[in-house]
Amino acid sequence: MKVVESIAQWKALRPRLTRSLGLVPTMGYLHEGHLSLVRRARAENEVVVVWIFVNPKQFGKGEDFQTYPRDAEADLRALEALDTDYVLSPGVDDVYPPGFQTTVSVAVLSKPLEGVSRPGHFDGVATVVAKMTCLTQPARAYFGQKDAQQTVVVRRMVEDLGMLTEIVVCPTIREPDGLAMSSRNAYLSPEERRAAAVLYRALQNAGRQYQAGERQGDALRGQMRAAIGAEPLATLEYAALVHPETLVELTSVDGPALALVAAQFGSTHLIDNLLIGEK
Ligand code: AMP
Repeated sequence: MKVVESIAQWKALRPRLTRSLGLVPTMGYLHEGHLSLVRRARAENEVVVVWIFVNPKQFGKGEDFQTYPRDAEADLRALEALDTDYVLSPGVDDVYPPGFQTTVSVAVLSKPLEGVSRPGHFDGVATVVAKMTCLTQPARAYFGQKDAQQTVVVRRMVEDLGMLTEIVVCPTIREPDGLAMSSRNAYLSPEERRAAAVLYRALQNAGRQYQAGERQGDALRGQMRAAIGAEPLATLEYAALVHPETLVELTSVDGPALALVAAQFGSTHLIDNLLIGEK
C-alpha cells in the first residue's frame, strides 16, 4: 500500500495506472461502514484508491471541522489489512491552494433535508467529489446509502458533467442496536448513544406501517416524528418521505420511497434513512 500525500505526486503516478480503478472517498476515522465500501471496491477493481480528506468546504460555520475525529494510524492499518493499493490524503492547502475559486453546485437536490440546516454543505461535497474524480479518473466510485442525499447529489453531478465514473451505492452498516455507523457516533455520551438507536427504530416503524398497508405520506412522517419525539435526548430536525431520485416529498406512496430522519443528540447531528415502497 502506498500513501500519497501530495497531489503533484499523485498526478505523476496516475498515468501509470492503466487498470480499472475503484475509488472510495472518505473523511477518515474509518469504521466498518467505510471498510465495507473498500471491500466492495477491492472485489470489483484491479486498483483500489481510498481518499482520506476532512473537507473544510462541506462544514458550515459552527460545525465540527476542527474537532472532527481523526486517527490516521488506525486508518492506514485497517486499509493495509484490506489490501488497499493507494491512500490519497492531501492537505487542505493542496486541495484548495491559493487562487482556488471553482464551486460545483447541484442546484435543486442540494436544497432540502440536510441542505436546510447545512446550507452550502452539498456544494462542498460536490466540489471535492468532482476534484477527486478528475484526479483519480475511477471506473467506479463507492458511496454509502447512509448518506442518501449525498448519493443523489453525486449521481446528478456525474450525469450532468458527463463523468465516466459509475457510482456504486453500498448498504448502510449498522451497530447491533440498529444505529448506523458514523464517525460522529464517537461524540455521543453513553446516554446519547443509547438514545440514538431511536432513529432506526423510527424508520423501521414507518417501514412496518407501510407493510401493513399505510400509504399516506403524512401518516408515515407522523409515525417517525412521534417515535423520535418520544426520546427525550433527541431533538428532531426532520422526518421526511421523498422520491428517492428527485427528493420531492410524497403525498402518498405508490412506488419507490425514501424515508429519512435527522436529529440532534446533544450537539451531535445524526442522520439515517430507509428505502420503502416498491421499486
Ligand atoms: P464519511 O467519511 O462520513 O464522509 O463517509 C465516507 C463514505 O462512507 C460515504 O460514502 C458514506 O456514505 C459512507 N459511510 C459512512 N457510514 C456508513 C455506514 N454506516 N454504512 C455504509 N457506508 C457508510
